[in-house]
Amino acid sequence: MQTLRNALEQSEKDGVAIGHFNVADLVLLKAVAGAARDLKVPVAVGASEGEREFFGVRQIAALVRSLREEYDYPIFLNADHTHSLAHALDVAKAGFDSVVFDLSALPFEQNVRQTKEAVEALKAINPEILVEGEIGDIGTGSEIHETAPDLSKGLTSPQQAKEFVEATGIDILAPAVGNMHGMLKSMVQGQARKRLDIERIAKIKSAVQIPLTLHGGSGTDDEDLRKAIGAGINIVHINTELRVAWRRGLEEGLSKEPDEVVPYKILPFAVRSVQEVARSRLALFNAACNAAH
Ligand SMILES: [Zn+2]
Repeated sequence: MQTLRNALEQSEKDGVAIGHFNVADLVLLKAVAGAARDLKVPVAVGASEGEREFFGVRQIAALVRSLREEYDYPIFLNADHTHSLAHALDVAKAGFDSVVFDLSALPFEQNVRQTKEAVEALKAINPEILVEGEIGDIGTGSEIHETAPDLSKGLTSPQQAKEFVEATGIDILAPAVGNMHGMLKSMVQGQARKRLDIERIAKIKSAVQIPLTLHGGSGTDDEDLRKAIGAGINIVHINTELRVAWRRGLEEGLSKEPDEVVPYKILPFAVRSVQEVARSRLALFNAACNAAH
């Protein structure tokens, strides 16, 4: 069975990125797994602390493992934005493939020290687990925001990225390169797109030489996503776009079947709606980029 590390190495060679989609329930998981299997591409599903609390840490691990085994399929499970060592240790014990250990809100020195400790503790439980660290400010909350936060001061510098990677021993870095969690209303309506600092991504990549994750990919300009992957992004996170699709699909199912009470007759509307978004994002991330890096 392919490991996440192998899949990342392959994506680097092919100039593509692994799509990472957050799931909080079986509807989202079915949709994401279905989209990836349709396109025959590896995929990562993620669950933040809140999503894991709803789903259950061991329950989501068992479901993802069952999909991987039944279909002999490269679907990986990531513990997204984990803010404490205790929670990180829980997911390592449950068999997650990777952890985003996110202390980016702390001062740099503290972030370095505690992330390094976490890397050591997590590898002691499972030497194969990949640990992602984060520096810079990409905002919080994969939801619809009224106004854009000013994240310009929190952009990651290549020098700081290099220092952070070398001091902590992380496997994957999540930099702040113009990306942001959540979407603005104008982005949901399709009137505005997020733009990325491609040059910064390329400089960070050449400074750190490890896989990079782009968080907060929802609502980003397609061409910027292609260029970002060409510049060295290996994983792209999409959450808010799926949440919007989930809600729209659910509303469609409820309005088309106003008297229906059978869940498996209503929920497929939501599965289809989410699957469509996941499929189009995966197709974009897996189209090989021409830009060499
Ligand atoms: Zn994120």
